Amino acid sequence: MEILFVASELAPLSKSGGLGDVAAALPAALAARGHAVSVVSPRYGSIDPARHGFEAVHRAIRVRGEPASLWVRRRGGLAHYLVEHEHYFGSRRGLYGDQQHEFGDNAERFAYLCRAALEVPAAFGLRPGILHLNDWQTGLAAWLLRHEHADDAVLRSTRSVFTIHNLAYQGVFRKEVLPALGLPWDVFRFDAMEFHDRLNFMKAGLVFADALTTVSPTYAHEIQTAEGGEGLDGLLRHRRRDLTGILNGIDHQEWDPATDRHLPAHFDAHALAGKHACKRALQEELGLPARADLPLVAMVGRLADQKGMDLVLAALPDLMRRELQVALLGSGRRDWEEAFAGAAREHPHRLAARLGFDEGLAHRIEAGADIFLMPSRFEPCGLNQLYSLRYGTVPVVRRVGGLADTVQDFDGWKQGTGFVFADYDPRAMLAGLRRAKEAFRDKRAWNAMLRRGMAQDYSWGRSAARYEALYDGLLR
Ligand code: ADP
Repeated sequence: MEILFVASELAPLSKSGGLGDVAAALPAALAARGHAVSVVSPRYGSIDPARHGFEAVHRAIRVRGEPASLWVRRRGGLAHYLVEHEHYFGSRRGLYGDQQHEFGDNAERFAYLCRAALEVPAAFGLRPGILHLNDWQTGLAAWLLRHEHADDAVLRSTRSVFTIHNLAYQGVFRKEVLPALGLPWDVFRFDAMEFHDRLNFMKAGLVFADALTTVSPTYAHEIQTAEGGEGLDGLLRHRRRDLTGILNGIDHQEWDPATDRHLPAHFDAHALAGKHACKRALQEELGLPARADLPLVAMVGRLADQKGMDLVLAALPDLMRRELQVALLGSGRRDWEEAFAGAAREHPHRLAARLGFDEGLAHRIEAGADIFLMPSRFEPCGLNQLYSLRYGTVPVVRRVGGLADTVQDFDGWKQGTGFVFADYDPRAMLAGLRRAKEAFRDKRAWNAMLRRGMAQDYSWGRSAARYEALYDGLLR
């Protein structure tokens, strides 16, 4: 099959969260299964394409009459195209905004990405059977495919798939931008892109794509409810027959405790000594006492409402009285950053807070921690609990979205890979942590549990096979 994949992030070149990882790994896994996959993404200012083996193709396409250049890199069945636009992408450091604000022209920027992506096939001799779109930044392409490109020789029979990585970010803009985007007022209808008198890019994808997917079966169900639907649950219920949940995988090369280049020592399920060494080194790195007997509870992630850090902050006074250590790596909400930094100053032997984005430290935390805490309010899939399982770090998670689909609650005896709690409440979270702390004391049961986690297979191969089956169904 020929697949054209469009995403606004592409790790390691650009990444704000799980989307960037997926845009790198899924196309690679599909290419490894014998498909020809082309990925289109912006060339942000932070990316030096030449350093990553890209070559420039000048004036390769025209977008609304204006010539545009692309950067191209081909490796076997996988091709990457970076769209060059100095004003929209090249001059920007952040992907969607700077520290304080979203960029004011995000509608224009990502409409441009969508239009550019659909010009790639004709310019480079591609004939994609499938156009795979991801999140609001690419939603408009589903409409463009059906309307502006309906009669294209190369796109006429292309079917589209739109994947929701996070329904909370929808790309909602003032309707007045419509003319500047080159769109007819016709699209501003409740059964198209109108949303409470504003323009909604995510909705374009949800209405006009042939198939919809999201990144876990439980999230696929949750977004069809009023609580989880972010105002689009009605539409998602309407399209439920076209909606599937397919779990994300993780990159087994990048995240392998036996070879991870970020770690001071290595380990696997049969030889855990390296994990103890990683814990000691991590405690030193974070300035925590090097105590093997205390469970080290860790968190890594964006400090956004979604991630449930208000539960952790509410529980901190209680946590700081317990015999455990807490490590946090994250950035986002200023008030939460300040609250964690303040608490860390107050409890330097109990709590370490690293505010910022640090790929290497994220790996060392996954390896060196005993317990990984994810009390998310909602979680489409979540990658960190999957990394934790693979690194012998026992997840304590709230039963939502992908967390519910990937962590099995410990039965106190022989089954389970982690601890699952239900209520969005600090006491429920503390009860989950208390169970984990008790289990930690029984070394044999604990090691058996983390080995069960390490034996799980959440590699991309399985997920890619499911996408392949979905594409197959669409083309038949
Ligand atoms: P989301 O996409 O909602 O942010 P995921 O769990 O799906 O959450 O993916 C988050 C990804 O970003 C993971 O690979 C995680 O390790 C990484 N990450 C998040 N915050 C940080 C940080 N501060 N430093 C390093 N890596 C981070």
